[in-house]
Amino acid sequence: MLLRVETLLQAQEKTTQISFHEAIDFPRDLGRLTRPLVGDVAVTRTEDDRYLQIQGTLSTEAELRCDRCLGPVPTALSIDVDEVLAVADSPIEALEVDEAVPATGDLDLSDLLRQYLLLNLPSRKLCGCKPTFGKDASQIDPRWQKLEALLSRTTEEDS
Ligand SMILES: [Zn+2]
Repeated sequence: MLLRVETLLQAQEKTTQISFHEAIDFPRDLGRLTRPLVGDVAVTRTEDDRYLQIQGTLSTEAELRCDRCLGPVPTALSIDVDEVLAVADSPIEALEVDEAVPATGDLDLSDLLRQYLLLNLPSRKLCGCKPTFGKDASQIDPRWQKLEALLSRTTEEDS
């Protein structure tokens, strides 16, 4: 969802209420979203029109990947968004300021919310499976395989 910054700045009310409902892009290596991201977002401009504050609570459901077996882990996700973006006079200036939107351009709300979602994913995701440190390497997370290879090499060097 793209919001025209000009429209937000010229709106009669300082706060523009947005009902967000969108199936946003999700990195496939992390899993997939099984529902659209849904919630209410309020975009409020400051008195001097120099900043936009984006606040909202959104939720969705995802099938994340198990840290052990890479199997699906159904996970309810919710995010509380509270972000202040500077309104830049020119697109060039926007590139220099970290969190800014150009006054004559668009605010990519979908992208902002996706970033929030990705930053708020649970760090530990387990489907309920048992740890597999057995011989069947195909069952082991590739990250562990590297560690295992390293461990066995160290052991061989020691003996
Ligand atoms: Zn698992």
